[in-house]
Amino acid sequence: MAQDKLYLVFEFMKVDNEQVAAYMETESFWEKIHEQRVKNGDIIGWDLWSLKPGGEDQGFQYMTVNLYKDAVSMIDARKIPNNSIIEGDICSIGAGAVGISIALDWMDSKYKVILLEGGGFEYNEKVQNLYDGKTTVKNI
Ligand SMILES: Cc1cc2nc3c(=O)[nH]c(=O)nc-3n(C[C@H](O)[C@H](O)[C@H](O)COP(=O)(O)OP(=O)(O)OC[C@H]3O[C@@H](n4cnc5c(N)ncnc54)[C@H](O)[C@@H]3O)c2cc1C
Repeated sequence: MAQDKLYLVFEFMKVDNEQVAAYMETESFWEKIHEQRVKNGDIIGWDLWSLKPGGEDQGFQYMTVNLYKDAVSMIDARKIPNNSIIEGDICSIGAGAVGISIALDWMDSKYKVILLEGGGFEYNEKVQNLYDGKTTVKNI
């Protein structure tokens, strides 16, 4: 049975004419990874579209589409293949009070903001280790 909603992430690619062959090679490499992501249930599907812009501006030539079954899997960076590049201008690491405030402050600017949080949605000992630290202050 088809589900009511799908969540899609579009990525637009600018490829110079002389780079098309290299780009296609890269995409066919990624195809195998995307197939595995589908098998793992990380995404529902993936597609590569060639764009034929109507106007003069040929800004982007290709677009990839990732289909997710829900919004949570769409933002879960653990599902992104290793070595993926997340592009942005400002990256705030840690979605605590400070990280979220910084990201919100820049959200409506011309800059693309990335907000990264460690761990998943459940308590995890390994993630708690991010808080490990040493203090040089001695008891007086
Ligand atoms: C028990 C307790 C009770 C408190 N009660 C109050 C209160 O009632 N009122 C109040 O105003 N303040 C309270 N505070 C203080 C308040 O929680 C902190 O001042 C505030 O959360 C600090 O915000 P922060 O963004 O600097 O850090 P945090 O809120 O700690 O956020 C840091 C975030 O970064 C993430 N992170 C860390 N390392 C990485 C990494 N390498 N990669 C990705 N993500 C990472 C962490 O998972 C975390 O989500 C309390 C604190 C504690 C411990």
